[in-house]
Amino acid sequence: MSQLSVKLSLCWLLFATLLSCGGREQDGVGGVAPASKPNVLLIVVDTLRQDHLTPYGYQQHETTPELQRLVDEDGAEVYFGAVASSSWTKPGVATLFTGLDPRQHGVMRLLGPGSQLRDEHTLAQEFSRADYATGCVMSNFLLSRKMGAGFERGFDFYDDRAANHPNPHRGSTAKEVVDSGLQWLKQRQPGQPWFLVLHFFDPHASFEDHPDVDWVDSDYQGWVVGGVSTDMLRQKEKSLSMADREALAAYYDEEIHAVDMQIGRLNRYLKEAQLGSQTVIVFTADHGEELGERKHIGHTQSLCAELVDLPLVVYVPPSLKSRWQLAESAAGGFAMKQIYPAILNVAALPIPEGRSLAAPEFLSMQVDFVPVRKDHLEKYVQKRAVRSHGIHYVLDTRTGEEWLYDLTQDPKMLHPLSSQHPGWSQMRALLGKAQWWEER
Ligand SMILES: [Zn+2]
Repeated sequence: MSQLSVKLSLCWLLFATLLSCGGREQDGVGGVAPASKPNVLLIVVDTLRQDHLTPYGYQQHETTPELQRLVDEDGAEVYFGAVASSSWTKPGVATLFTGLDPRQHGVMRLLGPGSQLRDEHTLAQEFSRADYATGCVMSNFLLSRKMGAGFERGFDFYDDRAANHPNPHRGSTAKEVVDSGLQWLKQRQPGQPWFLVLHFFDPHASFEDHPDVDWVDSDYQGWVVGGVSTDMLRQKEKSLSMADREALAAYYDEEIHAVDMQIGRLNRYLKEAQLGSQTVIVFTADHGEELGERKHIGHTQSLCAELVDLPLVVYVPPSLKSRWQLAESAAGGFAMKQIYPAILNVAALPIPEGRSLAAPEFLSMQVDFVPVRKDHLEKYVQKRAVRSHGIHYVLDTRTGEEWLYDLTQDPKMLHPLSSQHPGWSQMRALLGKAQWWEER
């Protein structure tokens, strides 16, 4: 190569570098992030079952057309086989925020020891250290600041007004969550990337009637009505008719739809503000919900499909595609704790010690739930579960009861396998190998 052409090549290289560093999209709206520092929007819908969502093939009602619209975009992916770390809010959200299993993050109690998130590497803290603006709109009262659980750490902005309504189980807060999130986004300064968590509570009981959709059978005359109290649900859960279950599911679906409509609003804003090309969107849940499958309505009681199968939809702008890494376990599926390192990695941030982009060898889930109310003591539950190669094993450590399911034949886990099945010994061995949260 002649000297001149070397010089020309160098000039071209300099020009190209300037283009890629400084030639980012400008749109006049706050929050334009450099290409190397994308914005990250984490949407967590409390109590959201995977199998009630349109992208997961739900046919009964069109619960999530807006989520489906996101899925249809170039750069979106729907993950099948992801599982929650637990079947209730605090350990689940702690895993999302820290990338750790309950054993490591230590959160498994409503009150007292084990009720606080102590890890110093929450997603918000990591983004904050990297000079991101960090915001969260939290609608679950268990994670409000006044509960003292520490979930607000690392956020510059933590709006828990929706969580502090006089009766947090009643009414709908999805619009309030998005109103607050949009207001925060519109105040962002150009050039500073942001990390925003929006936590929705609507699909959590009570199940409200939303007049814009009318999915409950008009001939149904039973006790299930919109907004029926959680005490009433507990009282009736052992004697549900099929019609009661259908009505419950219909109200639950109306709540999901209410959240979906607000997610549509949010996505339209991101598009209008031309933030779509520089914003990573992760949509997931903290756990699911039992709607009478095992004579329970609610969560915490089991580690079965309706509670642990996690919805996970990810939108990564095509320019960042190569930085999104979520590896499937060799035993099949994805663990909830993998979402954290994947989010940091796509934003080119370092992954703190104790977390890894590597997939786990197998999947594990745990619940150790002590209710606060004395009249709820029958809800005290301690269960552990492991999943590998399509086999799901659950152990009740209080009673010694065990269940084994073949997900390839029975994905909803309604038909436990017999004691003769060859999978028992291998799954018991895996359970012995996993690390579990224990009361200290
Ligand atoms: Zn929850």
